[in-house]
Amino acid sequence: MRAVTFQAPGEIRIEEKPEPELLAGDDCVVRVEASGICGSDLHIYHGRVPVEPGFTIGHEFVGTVLAAGDDVERVAVGDRVLGCFHVACATCAACLRSDYHRCERGRTFGHGSHLGDLQGAQAEQLLVPRGNLTLRRVPEGMSDEVALFAGDVMGTGYHAIAHAGMRAGDSAAVLGLGPVGLCAVQAARAAGATEVFAIDSVAERLAMAERFGATPLHLTESDPKRELRAATGGRGVDVVVDAVGDPGPLAMAVSLARDAGVVSGIGAYAGRGEVPLGLAWLKGLTLRLGLANVIAHVDRVLGLLEAGKLDPAPLVTHRMKLDQAAEAYALYDNREALKIVLTP
Ligand SMILES: [Zn+2]
Ligand SMILES: [Zn+2]
Repeated sequence: MRAVTFQAPGEIRIEEKPEPELLAGDDCVVRVEASGICGSDLHIYHGRVPVEPGFTIGHEFVGTVLAAGDDVERVAVGDRVLGCFHVACATCAACLRSDYHRCERGRTFGHGSHLGDLQGAQAEQLLVPRGNLTLRRVPEGMSDEVALFAGDVMGTGYHAIAHAGMRAGDSAAVLGLGPVGLCAVQAARAAGATEVFAIDSVAERLAMAERFGATPLHLTESDPKRELRAATGGRGVDVVVDAVGDPGPLAMAVSLARDAGVVSGIGAYAGRGEVPLGLAWLKGLTLRLGLANVIAHVDRVLGLLEAGKLDPAPLVTHRMKLDQAAEAYALYDNREALKIVLTP
């Protein structure tokens, strides 16, 4: 089978690999019919996240179950399924608290040996451990492209809002309008946010956020802080989502939140950043950070997608073949695409 493999920073290649086989009783093998290229794949592409040369990458997938071990009860051979981007054991202390994203035996698809040595989803077939927890049936009538978002990007946008404890009637601001930020805009609207301010410096992304019901604020061509304060009677918003993926904007997030508000950081922070702790303390802010608990949210997210309350379809800007993966990564790296879906 063909698989997209990391070779060296800036270099990926299609390689022929053996088809995966069941190893444990709760494993499944899935024929991948659509996979996504994600912002976190770019960290691998640039060598910022170490992955062994020849390792298959990718962690977002929809497909059909080709084989299932005897202990798999919740899906069956022939089912159309979507996957979560990582695997959890269901039995460790973290999983028993439903903190699946902090599973002590957690493994992430397509991230090399340091994140569990699980081959990736940008391939014709995929071995999926813990099939009962990792996979869900795709609801009747839902497209592959929409289902693809449930186990990662929309699950993460949803987490940013749910983790902030947003209530209907709250106001929100979202910093960074990549796919996750745009999904957070939708999740905030679905949670009953009265107004969502969407902040970025890319015009197309601001336009997309506006289409999703947000008030767009250009990062540099306007003064987001002043405009947001003016719109909220000087108070700031109840919930600020930082979806940039860099520690820099956290300071801005702190400044946009109201007194006793919540800052929900969902972008991946690597390294150190400056946070005005004095201001955060004075305001009595709650900071909520970390990787999204997508396994805990995936059923609710699927329900909202099915009901049309969330709709990531407009985020898919490019559809390409697995064989075009090198071209697709270069395109995505140039920020020419919002979401690229690969099909075999
Ligand atoms: Zn992803
Ligand atoms: Zn666990």
